[in-house]
Amino acid sequence: MLMRIPLSSPDIDEQDIAAVTGVLRSTQLSLGPMLESFEREFADYIGSMDAIAVSSGTAGLHLCLLALGVGLGDEVIVPSFTFIAAANVIRYVGAVPVFVDVNAGTLNMDPTCVERAITPKTKALMIVHTFGLPADMEPLLASAKRNNLRVIEDTCEAIGAEYRGQKVGTFGDAGVFGFYPNKQITTGEGGIIAIKDVSVSNLIRSLRNQGRTAGGWFEHSRLGYNYRLSEMNCALGLSQLRRIDSILAIRKSVASLYDRNLRGNPDLLLPPLHIDDRVISWFVYVVRLSNDFTRTQRDAVIDKLAECGIGCGRYFAPIHLQGAYASTESASLTLPITEAAADRTLALPFFNRITPEQITEVSDRLLAAIDSVRSIHS
Ligand SMILES: *Cc1c(COP(=O)(O)O)cnc(C)c1O
Repeated sequence: MLMRIPLSSPDIDEQDIAAVTGVLRSTQLSLGPMLESFEREFADYIGSMDAIAVSSGTAGLHLCLLALGVGLGDEVIVPSFTFIAAANVIRYVGAVPVFVDVNAGTLNMDPTCVERAITPKTKALMIVHTFGLPADMEPLLASAKRNNLRVIEDTCEAIGAEYRGQKVGTFGDAGVFGFYPNKQITTGEGGIIAIKDVSVSNLIRSLRNQGRTAGGWFEHSRLGYNYRLSEMNCALGLSQLRRIDSILAIRKSVASLYDRNLRGNPDLLLPPLHIDDRVISWFVYVVRLSNDFTRTQRDAVIDKLAECGIGCGRYFAPIHLQGAYASTESASLTLPITEAAADRTLALPFFNRITPEQITEVSDRLLAAIDSVRSIHS
């Protein structure tokens, strides 16, 4: 359904359009100068040794697991309260996702639960910076170090976020970013891997491009993939990256306005606007109904807002309860905080060009919808 105020909307300006048409007027549509510039400028921005652009965030996560040697029978610890790609890639390489619960305040993976989930088979941590809020890196990195684990940061929701003055995506062995149209910046489809070890980045570049190495186009030294990102996508990414600071500032101001409108309401749990040692990169604005409400009531709020032309989302449904995981051992897990949060979350319309009037309207209609569903019982 087309919403009058959508849940998300990309911010494409005339410079973005000129950048893409510039590529179309050239003859180089893949593996050209835009890829090189996008990778170099991204690495400079994020503060990593190297960056490798790929066809999606999911492809980037897959390549990181392969390049870091995660494979058959290995266990990888991952939150269930996240986008399914973070867990699916673990299964792509024959490894086993081990789901852990989240912290009720930040909705990020709980370091105590991670520590308890480590076994002799654990090979890696998949740390997700959920909704752009940096995970609690210090204890997570300490667990990884003590147990000799690889660390992959799924930074697909958190470009530009910082933990103790350092950008997330640069703490682990690899950090993966995604550029689907609902992200802070977009390439249409696309992703990029931030990496510090040159030998790993050479391997990832080869895996991205059909297992080719320095030899000829028809020399393939390993089993590879086509996970390349076209010049059109890279040109759009580069153009968007060059105004990332202003994009992140706008998103922060939208979050602050929602916070001002909604704060103090006992039916709502708002996301933290500020955490002392962290800089949040606002991906979505997700509120939670209080525990007095059921999932049915939450869904009714979403329906009521949709009737007014306001797009709201359910972020997320726990991965371990998805049909795609029904045949796995995870299906019998209980993760109380994840499941309670997932039943009550509501993602509000959140995009760069949303106006203060629209934010006020969404806030007012949300509070009215909550009042009206109070009498509905599941
Ligand atoms: C967006 C996202 C991805 C990657 O998605 P793609 O559509 O493959 O680019 C991965 N993990 C998380 C947590 C995400 O939000």
